Amino acid sequence: MEKLIDESVQGAALLLDKSIKNSRKLYIESYGCQMNFSDSEIVASILAAEGFNTTDRLEEADLVLVNTCSIREKAELNVRKRLEKFNAIKKNKPHLKVGVLGCMAERLKSQLLEEEKIVDMVVGPDAYKDLPNLVREIDAGRNAVNVLLSKEETYGDIAPIRLHSNGVTAFVSITRGCDNMCTFCVVPFTRGRERSRDPQSIVQEVRELWNKGFKEVTLLGQNVDSYLWYGGGLKKDFDKATEMQKATAVDFSDLLRLVAEALPKMRIRFSTSNPQDMTLKVVHTMAAYRNICNHIHLPVQSGSDRILKAMNRLHTRVEYMTLIENIRNIIPNCGISQDIIAGFPTETEEDHQDTLSLMDHVKYDFGFMFTYSERPGTMAARKLVDDVPEAVKKRRLEEIIALQRRHSLYRTKKYLGKTEEVLIENSSKKSDAQWMGRTSANTVVVFPKEGYVIGDFVNVKIMDCTSATLLGNAVGLSENN
Ligand code: SAM
Repeated sequence: MEKLIDESVQGAALLLDKSIKNSRKLYIESYGCQMNFSDSEIVASILAAEGFNTTDRLEEADLVLVNTCSIREKAELNVRKRLEKFNAIKKNKPHLKVGVLGCMAERLKSQLLEEEKIVDMVVGPDAYKDLPNLVREIDAGRNAVNVLLSKEETYGDIAPIRLHSNGVTAFVSITRGCDNMCTFCVVPFTRGRERSRDPQSIVQEVRELWNKGFKEVTLLGQNVDSYLWYGGGLKKDFDKATEMQKATAVDFSDLLRLVAEALPKMRIRFSTSNPQDMTLKVVHTMAAYRNICNHIHLPVQSGSDRILKAMNRLHTRVEYMTLIENIRNIIPNCGISQDIIAGFPTETEEDHQDTLSLMDHVKYDFGFMFTYSERPGTMAARKLVDDVPEAVKKRRLEEIIALQRRHSLYRTKKYLGKTEEVLIENSSKKSDAQWMGRTSANTVVVFPKEGYVIGDFVNVKIMDCTSATLLGNAVGLSENN
C-alpha cells in the first residue's frame, strides 16, 4: 500500500504525566517527520523543569508551541493555518504566548515574527536548551529568537518524557543534521551539519525504556548509516580526529550490536537509511541478532540515473539494485520500503518509466511517495527550473502509488498461511475487539484480542490480507516474552 505521512498524527498534541509542582500549561503539537515528534518530547522534558505541565486542551494553555516541518511547501502552509487558529484564541486570552519550533523556525528565522504577528518566540532545532531563557524573555513581554545551529548538540543528556499512548514503542535519536546535500532537500539548512550522539547515552536511554516496559525502539536520524562516534564533533571533521579516536570510533553497525547485546529482548528498528551510506556490515549485523528487526527503509527517490545525479544522490540505479540483491541474499525476508519523488525538475516520461521499472524490480513492501515541492535555498531551487507541470507530477504520482499498492498486495499475500511474531502496540483503529501490532518486517497485523495484552509478543497465523494489513489469529505467546 502507499504510506503517505501519517496524517492522523500530524499536529497531535503531546500529553504527558503531570507534576503537581508545575502550575503553567504547555500545549505542544508536532508536524512532519518522526524526528520532530521525538524532539517535542525533549522540549516537554526541558520545560517540565521550568514549571510546565502538558495539556491537550488548547483553551487552557499558557504557552502554545508548534514544532514545524519545512520539507514540502504544504507542510509550511498547514502550520500557517494553525497559527491563524491560535490567533483567534489569543484574542480572548491575551496572556497566551505562541512559539514556533523546528525546521520552519530555522528556515524563516525572525522573518516569522514579522510575517506572523502573533508569534512571540522562534526556536531552531539545536536551541531547545535555551528555552528556559527564551520563555523568560517572552514572559517579560519581549520577542525571543534563537536559531543558532550547533556543532555538538545531540541532546544526549536530556531524558525525553515519553508520550504514554502505548508505552511499548519509542523513538531514540542517534544523529542530528545531515551532510548529504540532496539537491531537493531543505534538511541540511534547517537541521545543520551531521553529528552523532554518544553510544553510551543511547544504550542508557534504551535500557531505561526497557525498565519502564517498552519493547521496541526505533533509532532515528536523517541518515542513520552515517552514524559515527569518535568522541563528539561533526562527522565531516572525522579526518582531523586523533589516531586513538579513529581506532576507537563506533560506526552504525557497532552501535546496533551494542544496543542489541545490551537489551537482547528489546526489538530494534532504525530509520532512515541512505543507500550510499548503507554498508553490508550493517546488513550482516541485522542478520546476526534476532532482536534487530528485518526492515530497511531505503529511499530511492527516482529510478533514473540522470535524475539521481541531478538530485545528488550519490549512487546509480544499478548500485541501488545490487544493494537490494545483497540485502535479500543476507536477510531473505527483509521488508524494504521506499521514498519516491515524482516530477523532479527536468524529469521526462522516460525517467518516470525508469522509476516504475525499478519499483517493479524491487517490489517494495510499502512507501512514502510525494510530488516534488521546490524549497527555497536548496540547490535544485537555485539551479533548476521547476518545469514539470503540476498535473503531470500528480499523474505520475498516482501511477507510482497505484503500482506500489499492487506490490504491497504481492508482499502481504506471501504471508498467507505463515505464522509471524507480532508485538502488540494498540487496539485496532477499526475494531476494539482486535489488537494491532507489527511483524519484524514492519507489516501491520490485526487479530482478535483474546487474553493477550499490549506489549505481548504473540505468534499469529496469517489467514487473510489487504495491501496494507495482515489478518490472523493468535496461536500463543512467542518465546520472546
Ligand atoms: N534523510 C532521508 C533521505 O535522505 O533519504 C529522508 C529525509 S526527508 C525528511 C523524507 C522524504 O521527504 C525524502 O526521502 C523525500 O522523498 C521527501 N522530500 C524531501 N524533500 C522533498 C521535496 N523538496 N519535495 C518532495 N519531497 C521531498
